[in-house]
Amino acid sequence: MKRNDCPCCRSNNIKPFINEFEKGYDLYTCKSCSVIFSNPFESAKADFYTNAKDVASKSRHESLAPLHKQHPSRKCEQLKNGDGKVLLDIGCGNGAFASFANENGLKVYGIDIDKSSLSAAKSRNLTSSTFYEATLDNLKEYSDIPEKFDIITMFEVFEHIENPNETIEKIKSLLKPDGLFIGSLPNVARTRMWTMNMDYERPPYHLTYWTIQTWRHYLKEHEIELVFAENNNYYGYMSDVLRIVTLKSLKMPVLKDIIAIILLGVKKYIESPIEIIAKQGASFFFVSKKQL
Ligand SMILES: [Zn+2]
Repeated sequence: MKRNDCPCCRSNNIKPFINEFEKGYDLYTCKSCSVIFSNPFESAKADFYTNAKDVASKSRHESLAPLHKQHPSRKCEQLKNGDGKVLLDIGCGNGAFASFANENGLKVYGIDIDKSSLSAAKSRNLTSSTFYEATLDNLKEYSDIPEKFDIITMFEVFEHIENPNETIEKIKSLLKPDGLFIGSLPNVARTRMWTMNMDYERPPYHLTYWTIQTWRHYLKEHEIELVFAENNNYYGYMSDVLRIVTLKSLKMPVLKDIIAIILLGVKKYIESPIEIIAKQGASFFFVSKKQL
């Protein structure tokens, strides 16, 4: 069903931004808070992700995730010297982040709705991580999950949810007084990919698009302070982009990866939406804390 208000600030001052961004979905922009959102604003259900065959589904569902070594969370000061702090990872996926967080002394509780990713996460047999097929709504059903956390993380997840305001308030309630909310979000520049077949980029996968400025404003409205934010081009995403470009232009599968590597170094052959994303950053990483 189409909304006539902004799912974030509830303003009625919304305008179409890209018609038929995806079949059955338009993109709208909110003139009050500048958030860009899918209309209708309805997220995919659990089975959709478990059975998905999008360009990133293979890496989500397998435990290898070698590219996580370049993930911006690895440079985050607030995630170093964990010292037994408890962390809730919402949308833990295949456990690549949990594995890294354990190495830094953090105790991780990972939740996800995607059964395939969860089985990959569990197969890591991490000693300081436990994984649950759970959402923020039914967390209390698990008596071994703590009531409060030192850190809550959400990497490329917030843009998937259809109840942003309830989620952000719930995150706040689960944080200890000096707790941190850390994560990443796709940059609005990624809407440039709409002319290409970047399947997992569109609704019903992604429902909102942000910039550091709109995110800072949104968090502030919910009494959360943004303490650090930085645009980045996580190689995991950029390699998906290059794969899409080569898939579009080539019929010979053996050559695709080789061409993708060449394209990375030969800027003039990269299509302009990708240049824009590369310049502005595909995502941004953030650290925020609850205002006392
Ligand atoms: Zn708004």
